[in-house]
Amino acid sequence: MGFRDRLRAGGTTVIWTFVFYAVLTAAAMLLTRRSHGIVLIWLANGPLLAVLCKTPTRRWLPLLAAASLGMMGSVFAMVGFRPIVIPVALIDVGEAVVAAALLRHWRVCGTLFRSIGTVPVFVAACFVAALLSGLPGAALAAGTLHLAFPPILADWVVGHGLGLLLGTPLALVARRDEGGWAELARPGRAWAAAGLAVLVALTAFATFWQSALPLLFLPFLPVVIASFAFQRVGAAVSVVIVAVIGGGLTRFGHGPVMLVEGDAALHLQFFHFYLATLFITALPIAAALVQRETLMRALAENEARYRLLADNATDIILTFDPDGTIRFISPAVREIALYEPEALIGTNISELIYREDRARVRAIYQAGLTTPERSYAFEFRAIKADGTVSWFEGNSRIVIDASGRPGAIVCILRDLEGRKQREAALEHAAATDPLTGLLNRTAFRSRVEERLLGEDQPGTLALVDLDYFKMVNDVYGHATGDTALLVLADLLRANLRADDAVGRIGGEEFAILFAGRGTAAAVAICDRLRDMLAQTMIPAPHDSFSITMSAGVMPLRRDLSVDALFSRADDALYRAKALGRNRTERAVGSG
Ligand code: GH3
Ligand code: MG
Ligand code: MG
Repeated sequence: MGFRDRLRAGGTTVIWTFVFYAVLTAAAMLLTRRSHGIVLIWLANGPLLAVLCKTPTRRWLPLLAAASLGMMGSVFAMVGFRPIVIPVALIDVGEAVVAAALLRHWRVCGTLFRSIGTVPVFVAACFVAALLSGLPGAALAAGTLHLAFPPILADWVVGHGLGLLLGTPLALVARRDEGGWAELARPGRAWAAAGLAVLVALTAFATFWQSALPLLFLPFLPVVIASFAFQRVGAAVSVVIVAVIGGGLTRFGHGPVMLVEGDAALHLQFFHFYLATLFITALPIAAALVQRETLMRALAENEARYRLLADNATDIILTFDPDGTIRFISPAVREIALYEPEALIGTNISELIYREDRARVRAIYQAGLTTPERSYAFEFRAIKADGTVSWFEGNSRIVIDASGRPGAIVCILRDLEGRKQREAALEHAAATDPLTGLLNRTAFRSRVEERLLGEDQPGTLALVDLDYFKMVNDVYGHATGDTALLVLADLLRANLRADDAVGRIGGEEFAILFAGRGTAAAVAICDRLRDMLAQTMIPAPHDSFSITMSAGVMPLRRDLSVDALFSRADDALYRAKALGRNRTERAVGSG
């Protein structure tokens, strides 16, 4: 919303406030004045309070000015200028300010009539405000009219309290965003609404046309039905219908109110009291239904979110009753613990816990019950469907029901062994060459680094490269080349000790770490491996062949970096190639 739009919207509200206040002031003076001048019902503050509730305090001033001017203008138009109208206007508008400030203070402004708890708070605010404005208001009237203070104060509090009580919800519900009017737009609902309105009107007419029977309880029935069917709009519109029909007939001397002994003013006051009671009966019903609808929507949303999580989680999500009966268990249990989720519903959670862990888990759970606001974690062994026992980690939270007792326990279970296995598998995959299963370059280098950090005699590094390997690929194809790589990998693996390490550090380049061995031993083993390779026949599609390898050997030294060690071994390997291949060379100066 742009600044000009906001200004215009604000301006419209100010104009409406002026008009409403002027018209309702005139109506109150013309229709409901008691002989001594105090109005019987002061509705004008209802719309003002509704607007104040929806407006930030910093924008109140123009609204309050508009209301005061509306009142003064209205009085001036009817009876001419009277100085007393100025303090009276201030007191009246002040009453709406007090009520709005109270509602704001009690934090119900935004949710008024949307939850049942706001209704008593609202009633209290109305009468506190009416009493506070009544003290100066009644004093002023008593002084001016030379009348006793207490009865005027009583009339003021009743008239203004009822006025706020009836006027505010009506004004609020009249707003498109507040009344739940959208309900009427649903197919078929408009007809139902019209039917209910006619029912309310007929009942009101039947009640107030006659004066013989005290039938005032009768309209409660259709008003309550309308409140159930159409909530806030239903309550407000049906009370307005009763007000118009009942109020009109009462004014003309009809209806059961006439059974009360007293003058016309008392009859009207009694009728307003009746109306307020009717409204205060209907409003909480409407509010409770709105509250329920809001809750249901939030619940459905939560449920959908929870289902989505539960269905897709790799951990098991589980809900059980305080006695341990499983109410829900997510599909992950099938994969992790091999149970069908449906088969577990209704069984007791303790049957799944390994016998020796049951007492311990129960103790943790009992302790958790005393601090339901916290979630608690525990580890335990559970029995899987195939009878195996596995460690799990549980995270639990207790759900408190409406009466404050533990209603259910929500729990997330994680298979610790599965996780450990997965972690190990990932670690292994990250360190391994996929073709040969030997260490990859990074993993091999870190084995060399570890060896250099250790206390023992470090050992010797050998770099191995196949001879004329490009030709193998060219003649027999890449797949056969791969077979040759696998043959060498198996050969190296089979002939090295557990402490040694072997890696594939490039396409057809391999590296060996001879742990704790000197150069001479390393050269001897390399020569033996070389012979074995040369004698191994490698199968090809229509043929078989053999290959040779060359090696460069360099003893590990703690005064050299890993890069320097590799580089020296590489130099030796290069020399082996240059000297005719199928041979082992030691690095220069390696003894
Ligand atoms: P040299 O005796 O000088 O080592 O000759 P060479 O042909 O072996 O030369 P070089 O070491 O540079 O050869 C690398 C060749 O190894 C290139 C490529 O065709 C082959 N090669 C590298 N990685 C793979 C692999 O994963 N599978 C197969 N089949 N061949 C590979
Ligand atoms: Mg090479
Ligand atoms: Mg090569």
